[in-house]
Amino acid sequence: MQTGKMRKQRLSGNRHAGFGSQHGAAKGAARSITESEVRAGTFRQPAMQTPVLVLNASYEPINICGAKRALVLVLKGVARTEEEQGAMLHAARMRVAMPSVIRLLEYRRIPHQTRALSRKNILLRDRNACQYCQVVLTAAELTLDHVIPRSRGGLSTWENLVACCHNCNRRKGNQMLHELTDMKLLREPRPFSLHTSRHIMRMIGSADAAWRKYLYFESETAA
Ligand SMILES: [Zn+2]
Repeated sequence: MQTGKMRKQRLSGNRHAGFGSQHGAAKGAARSITESEVRAGTFRQPAMQTPVLVLNASYEPINICGAKRALVLVLKGVARTEEEQGAMLHAARMRVAMPSVIRLLEYRRIPHQTRALSRKNILLRDRNACQYCQVVLTAAELTLDHVIPRSRGGLSTWENLVACCHNCNRRKGNQMLHELTDMKLLREPRPFSLHTSRHIMRMIGSADAAWRKYLYFESETAA
């Protein structure tokens, strides 16, 4: 089913010989739109905002990114489109199918420690819930709390940072948890594991039928 696109790529000359010819489908299809055009935001279509599932070369789900970023990865030859959204990206005489699922062409090892320690990722791990009073708030209404306060040697690490509402943050102040009788952590903070992110992907992806077979990859192969 790739042969048409593969042929097109051969005719247009293989400028990226290093990437291997089996990846011709994604590159060939994308040849007419450049990476810089996508980056520059030439295409302001709703399809650009939709989430795209990112698979490792092994088909293991590893991330979710915006369609714009996914398209850049495909155009760079780093990933190929596995499933399409159905929407087409139009500009002048060009068309490219928007991806719904992409797969990295080279296997990427993802040690837990390399997951970026960021405010966004801490809130994602804690599902936007204050880890003391359990109230769920928007990202803007939450702050990060150092479980062991910085003033007492607490570090900014996965294990010492939690999502926290401003109320609890004020109440806790510079005290250690064992000094407070009325405040307890909902759960022990841990690094963002692949398990956690898969769980999140299941929730986000539950509406997208095209994602399902990749998200339940494990149980399907086990059966
Ligand atoms: Zn709270």
